[in-house]
Amino acid sequence: MNRAIKPSLLVCLVLSLFAAGAWPAGATTYWGGEASAIKDAYYDGSVASYGWGSIFDSGRSNWGGISSKVSIGKTTSTANYPDKYYVGQTSNANLWGFAPAYKKDANGNIVLADVNYDTWLYCTVSAYENTIKLNQPGGLTTSQTISSVTTHEIGHTLSLGHSPSSETSVMVSAGATNFSPTNYDKTELKSKWGN
Ligand SMILES: [Zn+2]
Repeated sequence: MNRAIKPSLLVCLVLSLFAAGAWPAGATTYWGGEASAIKDAYYDGSVASYGWGSIFDSGRSNWGGISSKVSIGKTTSTANYPDKYYVGQTSNANLWGFAPAYKKDANGNIVLADVNYDTWLYCTVSAYENTIKLNQPGGLTTSQTISSVTTHEIGHTLSLGHSPSSETSVMVSAGATNFSPTNYDKTELKSKWGN
């Protein structure tokens, strides 16, 4: 795979939060996160509309079987603040996916969480069909790119930040050419949640 041609893709809002916050050199997990990584995800109707249900199923299962503390199930109820998955379109040509974290503020309103200093209530994952289909990083097919983006964004919901670009990781911020968690990603996941 030609990593030299990878474009500046997979840009997430989380990246800007990353840039704004204090960050220990080399650390690729967020200090904050949901109270538990044994949790459920709710699929918005847009996921089925695009026919991406099995893709998100794979994205969830990709993070299973690594740590006994990490398992993302699927729920058809929006009660108890599950993570919520969406597929849509974006006018931002450099945006493939987006995985912000939310919390309740002192007034009980849902607001963006600080990924490093808050306990998150839930995350949303959005994958953008139009930009994914226009842009595949070196060597990946469109379907592999879709898997890369969904797995990457779901990784953010597990408190994984962006890996250094020198690492072989589905969590690098630009043009990830892996489409499932690598050994590096599995080690990072266990460093956050335990074995
Ligand atoms: Zn990202």
